Amino acid sequence: MNFKSDITIIGAGVVGLAIAAQLAHRGRTVYVLEKNERFGQETSSRHSGVIHSGIYYPAGSLKAKLCVEGNRLLYELCPKHGIGHKKLGKLIVAANDEETGQLQELKAKGQRNGAEGLRIISRSELKEMEPNVEGVAALLSPSTGIIDSHALMEHFVARAKDGGAEVAYNKEVVGIEKLGNGYKVTVDEGDTGKFSFETRILINCAGLYCDKIAELVGINIARAGYRLHYCKGEYFSVGGGKSKLVKRLIYPVPELKGTGLGVHVTLDLEGRMRLGPNTEYVDGIDYTVDSRHKQTFYNSAKKMLHFIEYEDLEPEMAGIRPKLQGPGEDVKDFVIRDESDKGLPGFINLIGIESPGLTSSPAIARYVADMVKATI
Ligand SMILES: Cc1cc2nc3c(=O)[nH]c(=O)nc-3n(C[C@H](O)[C@H](O)[C@H](O)COP(=O)(O)OP(=O)(O)OC[C@H]3O[C@@H](n4cnc5c(N)ncnc54)[C@H](O)[C@@H]3O)c2cc1C
Repeated sequence: MNFKSDITIIGAGVVGLAIAAQLAHRGRTVYVLEKNERFGQETSSRHSGVIHSGIYYPAGSLKAKLCVEGNRLLYELCPKHGIGHKKLGKLIVAANDEETGQLQELKAKGQRNGAEGLRIISRSELKEMEPNVEGVAALLSPSTGIIDSHALMEHFVARAKDGGAEVAYNKEVVGIEKLGNGYKVTVDEGDTGKFSFETRILINCAGLYCDKIAELVGINIARAGYRLHYCKGEYFSVGGGKSKLVKRLIYPVPELKGTGLGVHVTLDLEGRMRLGPNTEYVDGIDYTVDSRHKQTFYNSAKKMLHFIEYEDLEPEMAGIRPKLQGPGEDVKDFVIRDESDKGLPGFINLIGIESPGLTSSPAIARYVADMVKATI
């Protein structure tokens, strides 16, 4: 054991990096350990890049609270630090009268959560705003936007390093042992072998592997309800010069008890259009896009966007959601907790940080910083 750290964060995705940036300015030693060669190689670069407004999540949930706060924080942070973003706005489009009723419920839910400026618009207003989108009414969310998540992570890395934190790559955490006042962490560096060190606080931001990290410290993840279900989301790009035909993000009304928000239209900062993500529970991590799903994507999109042709779609990429919600189960909230009541004070678990994890990242960082303040 050759050194001691005050705070160690496992995982250099957007969440671990946001936390490092938040904690590094408090005069303590902070390490981020990442198993890959660079930051943000997993879920944090395989998503829709949307700054959500907080509509869908159950009232009082961490998802609702941290999404709404994260949305506000990102719109403060991005212009100040030159992080690419656009507040495009989003429309959830009802295809029939029954779905229009659901828009009212979504609006009420979003307003309770604190999502800003939600408004139901009529068919004629929809036609004015988006002449190429079909629907009988829509819910407008003006504070939804898109962000360059790579630039956001670069910003968090720079801020963490400025504050004295170290972000170390090719360091896979393979062992954790509880000590009297902290944790012994064993790290595999590949060719150079393994080493161990002590840390007072250990923060688990390991994304798709967070349940494995919880297991390493001795938590019974089945009993704690921490076992992850992987849920893949594929995207198809839309070519054929169709990108300019919508100006906003266009979503269908989500299925009740659904696992995702429904295949929707996103735009990136260059204005490229893509469809996705679908939802498919999978056993392992495999990012290939199944081209046989093209017909289903086409059918979903065609309902709202009559201009789309089957030939416009090309498989693009996929991400995997680290879900606590198993197939057929109710929506589950983020787990963010200090595990003192499991005899593990100073071990902070972040489990099931699926969407809106990107949006929430700066708010999650503040939330975790408050927990750390209460501990040391
Ligand atoms: C299809 C899809 C679409 C999404 N769309 C949006 C969206 O539009 N808006 C939004 O707000 N959110 C969205 N999300 C959610 C968002 O992408 C995630 O919540 C967020 O990226 C999670 O970040 P993270 O840092 O927790 O995890 P990750 O990015 O997965 O980072 C975890 C890191 O931990 C590292 N790690 C794991 N195990 C170890 C170990 N043993 N030792 C060292 N390092 C380890 C991994 O290598 C990885 O780099 C989407 C997610 C998906 C899958």
